[in-house]
Amino acid sequence: MALLLVAVIVVVSVLCGGYLFLKGGAPSNVPSGWTTYTQTNNDWSMNYPSSWTVSQDGSEMHFSKDNNLLVVAILVKETDTSKMIQEVLSILGNYYQNFQKLSESTCTFSEEQGMRVDYSFTYDSVPFRGFLVGVVLHRFGYAIYTEVPSNEFDKLSPIFENMISSFTISNLEGVIPYSQWSARESTHFIFHYYPNSNAAGDMDTIVSEHESGLNNITSTLGVSYSGKINFYLYPSDDILYKMTRRDSGFSIVKENEVHSLYASSEERQSVGHEMTHVITYWTIGEPSEALLGEGVAVALDQSGENLDETVSELIFTEMYVPLTSMLGDNWFEQDSFAAYKESGSFVKFLIDSYGVAKFKQLYISQNFLVALQTLYGRGLTELEDDWKTAIYSSWEEEFLE
Ligand SMILES: [Zn+2]
Repeated sequence: MALLLVAVIVVVSVLCGGYLFLKGGAPSNVPSGWTTYTQTNNDWSMNYPSSWTVSQDGSEMHFSKDNNLLVVAILVKETDTSKMIQEVLSILGNYYQNFQKLSESTCTFSEEQGMRVDYSFTYDSVPFRGFLVGVVLHRFGYAIYTEVPSNEFDKLSPIFENMISSFTISNLEGVIPYSQWSARESTHFIFHYYPNSNAAGDMDTIVSEHESGLNNITSTLGVSYSGKINFYLYPSDDILYKMTRRDSGFSIVKENEVHSLYASSEERQSVGHEMTHVITYWTIGEPSEALLGEGVAVALDQSGENLDETVSELIFTEMYVPLTSMLGDNWFEQDSFAAYKESGSFVKFLIDSYGVAKFKQLYISQNFLVALQTLYGRGLTELEDDWKTAIYSSWEEEFLE
């Protein structure tokens, strides 16, 4: 591997332009008047001119001086460099005026094969030039884009290129690429797992519990799912993070993918939660509310947890969050334990009490509150009271003892 990298570093200077920067972060590699920025969790580093300003904007880092800007953005749930570049271009195209793509080429980026697109746009009637460089590794990607007034582009371009050729993605130690993982195919899944991991030894059980979980989920929802789920089982939180830059499992529904922790039969994520996201996406559609999307995934996670008991305990301990505080993006602002469990129990109540056909209509409705009234003849607070009364009456006595 080390030998290969030497060859790749030379290609960096040829394809991306700019000067040859040796990787490794030794101080002598940083040009005088430049500084190395290292992201606090050590996920990447990049050299930049010391006189420039560094600031954070959400998950992006901005390096700027006067009208000149270079942005480093991380993107998660990415599967392919070219797709990611197109996504970022469409975001830039919507944001900038008169956005025009000028050229596209391959480019070596942090020792990997990446892509570069040059573009122009106008801002406040001033013509601007810039370029976008990016790469996807495993299931996350980095994209760097620049903006500078066109009349300064030739002067600034070498500085941007030197910054980009020093960009190094780190925190990848011990990762085995997906191409070297083992695989096992069953009727509805292709399981991908680390060689010699606990998942490898438990594969017969994993196949049967996921196939029967999928049958339970599709029959509860009254749908048939004919796709095949690529199901990635990670041996530790550390490897999951290094390969996806996420702290816990997730699905990429459009790609029929689930990414899940399976350290052992004890330390693992549920069989059904993430696959429910994939199945509902392809058979029902996209949820109008996180309350519904996460609710159905929790309700059908196949863990056997008694959600009604869990929510009753939230009510009893006054940790309960009203459903009216969980609409739209507010769902993500609430205590996540309460948000998941309450959504799961409420969705289960809707399906059990009123049938799955109405639930599926509600799931993709344009306006959740209007659809509740139309489909159930009741408002959210009334349904919430019905549900709380139904679940709490059977548990209150027990808590009081
Ligand atoms: Zn979920």
